[in-house]
Order: sequence, then C-alpha cells, then structure tokens
Amino acid sequence: MNNAIRLSSLLAGFLLSGTLLAQDCELTIDSNDQMRFDKDSLTVSSECSEVTLTLTHSGKMAVEQMGHNWVLSKSEDVQGIAQDGVSAGLDNDYVKPDDERVIAATEQIGGGESTSITFSLDGLEAGSDYEFFCSFPGHVAMMRGEFIIE
Ligand code: ZN
Repeated sequence: MNNAIRLSSLLAGFLLSGTLLAQDCELTIDSNDQMRFDKDSLTVSSECSEVTLTLTHSGKMAVEQMGHNWVLSKSEDVQGIAQDGVSAGLDNDYVKPDDERVIAATEQIGGGESTSITFSLDGLEAGSDYEFFCSFPGHVAMMRGEFIIE
C-alpha cells in the first residue's frame, strides 16, 4: 500500500515536472552584511524564454552602507559597468542609465529587502562568458560570479 502511494506521488511529481522548465528559469540568490552572494555561479537552460532572478538581502545594514544589486553582463564589461556605476550613484542604483553593456540589473536593496527582475535570454549565447555582480562601490571585488547558459 505504502509503495503504491509512493509510486503515485512519484508519478504526480513526474507529471508536475512538466513545469520543470519553468522552475529552471527561476533563480534566487542571497546577499548579506559580509558583502557576499551565497552563490558563486548560476546556471540556466538556453531553453528559457525568460529568466526571473530574485535577489534577497539577509543582512541588517541599510542600502546606503551595504546595498546590493544583481547586474548581468559579459565578463569583459564587468569592470567598466562597475566603474561607471560609481559615478551614477545610488539614485541610479549604481548603474549608468541606459548602459547598453548591462543585460539585466535589479535595484539596490538593503538588509531585509528583496527584489526581482525578469529578462530574456534573446541574443545571449550558450558557452559565452557572462558574469553577475553587485555594482555598489567596491563590492565587485567580492560579489561576482559566473552566469552559465547551457
Ligand atoms: Zn553589494
């Protein structure tokens, strides 16, 4: 009996996995007062028409002191975007307005807050070098990881 129940819940799970693609297209990442993301890489399927990234900040510090965002770009553009972001200031979430090198970027958040962004993978290539990072001044050195499309 138990086995039958287990099997049917397995089957139900299998059927539900029709939503697997959708789940794979949703990413979460946490940030904290130690100036860290909790992941150093994120992977999505190239089959995703859209990706939704949710950024949380589990720390307590205010956005002015320990703000975090999540910015996606080609690896080669990370430093340039971060540098221009410093001049753009917190009013612009430390991202230069209309920066064409930015593929996706969330707002800056402080401790206890969360934010999310949905973006398309159109024009991005599996196997290319993409990275995510936080553009708060000085954070890119510690808060940076690989974004893998496979
Ligand atoms: Zn940060």
